[in-house]
Amino acid sequence: MLIRYSCKDMGLNCSFIVKGETIEEVTAKALDHVREKHVDDFNFIQSPAQIEEMQKALARSTRVVAG
Ligand SMILES: [Zn+2]
Repeated sequence: MLIRYSCKDMGLNCSFIVKGETIEEVTAKALDHVREKHVDDFNFIQSPAQIEEMQKALARSTRVVAG
C-alpha cells in the first residue's frame, strides 16, 4: 500500500507530490514542504496547535494509491 499527498489535493497551485508507506511519513514530509514553500499560503502555522491542525489537514488530503 502506498499513501500519496499532493499539493494539488490541498488546492495549491504546486506540483509537489510525496509518497510513502504510512500517513505519518507522508504527512511529516508534506508538512516540511508546506512550511518551507507555502509560508505565504499558510502563514498561520507557527504554534504547536496550528502545526497540529495543519498535520490533520495534510493527512486528510492524502490518498491511498495502489503501490
Ligand atoms: Zn507545494
